[in-house]
Amino acid sequence: MLPRYPLALLPTPLVEAPRLAAALGGPRLLVKRDDLTGFAMGGNKVRGLEYYLADALACRADVIVTGAGPQSNHVRATAAAARVAGLAMVAVIHNARPPQALGNLLLDELLGVDLRFTGLPNREEVDVQIEATAAELATAGRRPYVIPRGGASALGALGYLGAVGELEAQLEALGAHPTWLVLATGSCGTQAGLLAGAKLRAAPYRICGITVSRPVAECQARITRLAQEAARLAGGSLAVDPQDVLVRGGFIGAGYGAPSAEGVAAIRLAARTEGLFLDPTYSGKALAGLIGEVQAGRITPDDTVVFLHTGGEPSLFAHPEIAGQD
Ligand SMILES: *Cc1c(COP(=O)(O)O)cnc(C)c1O
Repeated sequence: MLPRYPLALLPTPLVEAPRLAAALGGPRLLVKRDDLTGFAMGGNKVRGLEYYLADALACRADVIVTGAGPQSNHVRATAAAARVAGLAMVAVIHNARPPQALGNLLLDELLGVDLRFTGLPNREEVDVQIEATAAELATAGRRPYVIPRGGASALGALGYLGAVGELEAQLEALGAHPTWLVLATGSCGTQAGLLAGAKLRAAPYRICGITVSRPVAECQARITRLAQEAARLAGGSLAVDPQDVLVRGGFIGAGYGAPSAEGVAAIRLAARTEGLFLDPTYSGKALAGLIGEVQAGRITPDDTVVFLHTGGEPSLFAHPEIAGQD
């Protein structure tokens, strides 16, 4: 495997969620607590960052350049990792600077990130400005290291390729034989890494991503490509058919980052059954998707489900309307 710069506290816990399982109507439910990856408020981005930071240091970079939206968990975790490694950090953020820095944006400011707002809503503009910013820094004599928007590349996907082995050992210790692994899918690196790891290890469960931003077919294509590339980086080889990549749509709501009614209901349910905090952009919509799979009869009481909690709690503090008193 490629070198890692240690950031995460692993293994993350794998816990039963019996009250939530009962509320869902019966499948055994285990929650893989990757909200607790143990660095800078945790979440799924920390595993991939171990590979990015090792690579950035090997390239003798002095500044990390990346980007995403204003409530990005990726930017917050990357900024903290850059600080620990002694690097500066520039982040390109879509739209205009919000009037008040809340949630992840508050943490970005606390970390002293050089935030550059595009003033435009489209996310492709972030990609363009990440490249332009890196070029500008290089011209000024700096040594920038670019991490793609959302952290999704084959290198970053190695974090979850490795997590499959960690999960396997925990399942063995519990005597659990899951049939499903359900997670939120955004820029697709996490599902790609899991798929590659699961295929290389012949894991018995199917992986179901609930898309929170992109159309299903685009996710399938990205996951196929990233999984194959990640397997190659890990020294293996893998043929993935996009048809084998399971991604469910229908839970994005009004759009990426906008809380949905089902997602908010799922967040309240997880809090009120298990004391578990999910987030409105990713994990809340993923649990809504899991509930949808149960309602559609595709996940039954005979199944055992691992729900990957990918983190994201800081963005709750930018959405006070979610708390609810109903
Ligand atoms: C980024 C993120 C995801 C999605 O991961 P991808 O690798 O981008 O698909 C899920 N949950 C949370 C909390 C995230 O921050």
